Amino acid sequence: MSGFSTDAILLRKIEYGDHDFIISFLSRDRGKVSVIAKNAKQSVKRFSGALDLFSLNSIQCTFPKKKKDALTILSRTDLENGFANIRCDVFKTTYASFWAELIHFWLEEGKVVNEVYDLLKFSLEALDTDSMEKQVLNLLFGIRFISLSGFSPNIEQCDQCQTPIDQIQQKYIRFDFKAGRITCKNCEDSHSNYSMTVSKGTLKQLFWINNNDFKRADRIRFSPFAIKEGQMLLEAFIPFHLGRDFNSLKFLNRLRQETCI
Ligand SMILES: [Zn+2]
Repeated sequence: MSGFSTDAILLRKIEYGDHDFIISFLSRDRGKVSVIAKNAKQSVKRFSGALDLFSLNSIQCTFPKKKKDALTILSRTDLENGFANIRCDVFKTTYASFWAELIHFWLEEGKVVNEVYDLLKFSLEALDTDSMEKQVLNLLFGIRFISLSGFSPNIEQCDQCQTPIDQIQQKYIRFDFKAGRITCKNCEDSHSNYSMTVSKGTLKQLFWINNNDFKRADRIRFSPFAIKEGQMLLEAFIPFHLGRDFNSLKFLNRLRQETCI
């Protein structure tokens, strides 16, 4: 019977009938793969780790015998990392769920984007081991996801006159969501309805974590103000750019309000 084995991160799991799950994984070499896990609710032996959201597994899949358009069958999973420390923290769990939800929505079935897999795996490991501050990690994931998803924002120079951000003599600079660009005061003709002003310092820090090796991102220190501003920018820009709201992001905002973070 033909099939394949790969390492994969679980992006989404939905119930199918009384016994089965349909599961979407992100793998490095096959991109997003959706499979059916038959009798998964009963079969603890074949599916270790309870098939939890954003867990890293070694998966074995089998192609269906006959029906051309039937789903690939998940034959076995071996848990490699369940990211137990993430699951102990409601904020960390929500960040990881948000990342999984974003990728699941954006990535087409079978499209291979190695960098997205590497970014998600790195972000989950760093979140689990506390090697980076969780809010900064969420900024790093957000800005790099936007770039990888083909809408690289220009936060390096004014979109009109090309003045580099360092030479723009303003503390706050306007970022236009529609164009995904910053514009200096001299070039602002009319304000777009879809824009916000962000401090130059925050834009420069976001630029840095977007353009340097992400393993070095722990070297940069974000002030609480820069974290808040970065969050506001990215969490408004990402839904705008992808054209929809995300449940995990709504939940994250409720959580922040309730805990005043
Ligand atoms: Zn300008």
